[in-house]
Amino acid sequence: QIYKIRTSWDYGQHIEKESKEEYELADKEIIDALDQNNMLIEYQPKIVAKTGELAGAEALVRWEHPTLGIIPPNEFIPVAEESGVIFKLEEWVIENICVQMNKWTKSGYDPMPVSINISPQHLCKDNFSNKVEEILKKFQVSPSLIELEISEDALIKDADTVNANIQHLKKQGITVTLDDFGQGVSSLTHLKSLELDHLKIDKSLIDNITTDKENGVIITSLIQMAHGLGVKVIAEGVENEEQLHALVEKNCDQVQGFLFSKPVKTNDFEKILMSKVLQ
Ligand code: C2E
Ligand code: CA
Ligand code: CA
Ligand code: CA
Repeated sequence: QIYKIRTSWDYGQHIEKESKEEYELADKEIIDALDQNNMLIEYQPKIVAKTGELAGAEALVRWEHPTLGIIPPNEFIPVAEESGVIFKLEEWVIENICVQMNKWTKSGYDPMPVSINISPQHLCKDNFSNKVEEILKKFQVSPSLIELEISEDALIKDADTVNANIQHLKKQGITVTLDDFGQGVSSLTHLKSLELDHLKIDKSLIDNITTDKENGVIITSLIQMAHGLGVKVIAEGVENEEQLHALVEKNCDQVQGFLFSKPVKTNDFEKILMSKVLQ
């Protein structure tokens, strides 16, 4: 099957910004990319808001396409989701991260939690939590170091399967985070009913945290409510000091964004792992 994608992304120097041509991207190409190691994972640090210490990292996948250059996830994840290749892709991501974590342990780095984005389709799949368990056992990675970021779309889709998967993941000791909170129709009910561990406030709410007074009030009470439910709060897309100060003042637990670091390749993340403080 063939899918059309836009190639107007502004990503590095590999691709001309002006080219708005449509390329045909086949799901089979994604499978080939996985087999040929043309996918790569970048890591973006997560930071303890109050201290500036490294709290962990979010893994973000990229495609190094032989002719098109680096393709960002927003361009190919939808293709993978539509075709079902997403299962194979995300299993590859989880395995790849396990291998990397084992390398870090061997090299003497302290254990560092890594967050992985999981597509709603995958979370709706019957044996998803079993598959994750299997992979972690195979690579002997502690579930306590794995955090899965899920979006609200998943929770609305197929409630029973999703609930069962989440409960089994949590039982293993995996941290489950509600991602992109505030981007769509957001509700706190899932935090309580599913006993989710973390809440990540979407960049769109963080963008005007200091300029939009009402928005600031919403974030303040959001954090208070989450804490009341025993849920940790992470803010994504933090780009300046003012936003950081506002978040620290509001007792946000963790922050992530270009103010600290962009997503970086493994060897650059290792430099961060060595120094451990980003503020
Ligand atoms: P997301 O989970 O909301 O991840 C945050 C995105 O914002 C990332 O884009 C990150 O590079 C970018 N970002 C982080 N800090 C800042 C900042 O301060 N300013 C700005 N302007 N941007 C910032 P990226 O890497 O292009 O990923 C886009 C989306 O692709 C992610 O959004 C996530 O939903 C999805 N994605 C990435 N990897 C995977 C994966 O393995 N599986 C699935 N299902 N989705 C993935
Ligand atoms: Ca995420
Ligand atoms: Ca987001
Ligand atoms: Ca997301």
